[in-house]
Amino acid sequence: MKKFLFPFMIFLLLLGGCSNAVQSNSQKTSEGTKKLKVITTFYPMYYFAQKVAGNAANVDLLIPNGVEPHDWEPTAKDMAKIQDADVFIYNSRYMETWVDKVLKSIDPSNLKVVEASKGIKLLDATSGEEGNSPISKDPHVWLSPVLAEKEVDNIAQALEQKDSKNKDTYEKNAEAFKTQLVDLDHLYKETIDKAKKKDFVTQHAAFGYLAKQYGITQIPIAGLSPDVEPSLSKLAELADLMKKKNIKTIYFEGLASPKVAQTLANEIGAKTEVLNPLEGLTKDEQEKGLGYIEVMKQNLEALKHSLLE
Ligand SMILES: [Zn+2]
Repeated sequence: MKKFLFPFMIFLLLLGGCSNAVQSNSQKTSEGTKKLKVITTFYPMYYFAQKVAGNAANVDLLIPNGVEPHDWEPTAKDMAKIQDADVFIYNSRYMETWVDKVLKSIDPSNLKVVEASKGIKLLDATSGEEGNSPISKDPHVWLSPVLAEKEVDNIAQALEQKDSKNKDTYEKNAEAFKTQLVDLDHLYKETIDKAKKKDFVTQHAAFGYLAKQYGITQIPIAGLSPDVEPSLSKLAELADLMKKKNIKTIYFEGLASPKVAQTLANEIGAKTEVLNPLEGLTKDEQEKGLGYIEVMKQNLEALKHSLLE
């Protein structure tokens, strides 16, 4: 018996040795081609980063797509994901209000932190909003295609700095995506130039930069965050204003409760329609494979009902 066991054991040892060698080899290989790990907060940050990264980096989304990001807070697990990444991209401290706190409680020494709205002059919250809302500046810059270009530049610059061997790829990808944003800007401009009316009523004040860019006027029901609901007197005021201006459409959004928009629409006999602030995508939009550009085009089609009819 022993005679046979001995060579068998040697065979096993050899096998073990072999598989160890294979394992360490494959580790080396994966180390050598290790992709940059990018974590982004909510949908537009994810989409812009993905457009810049292409296949050269791995981009993840922190706040699930169907969740409204204004009042989202990170868990310990989310904080570990940020800590574990090479690059962390967020829109603005007026949107992701938790960022400063989180960066103080993790070790950010290896982490490249990108505030994508950096360098953009943010609009102040309009009067009446500061009282209810903790947000003193408007963070919704991604809804202007022109300002979105600036965010893409900031994201590309960070990826290029952190992963210089793919610099050319990031640069080329960013330029290609910015061409799409320029086309989108032209489409908005051409369409809205023909507008007969200027006003549109939104569920929350997300479209301030878009309105400013194209010379139209947003009338928001709620404040800069959709969870800040208007008072009854504010609603009555809005109903009067809409009747006076003959506004027939009220826009609501997929991720926040449309209750107030619906109530107001019922009261004045207006119809409701979706205008997506792109703070995430609904399940339906995800299933249809829609992205930032497609949703922005849908938004423009919806806006025509207020501006051109
Ligand atoms: Zn918002």
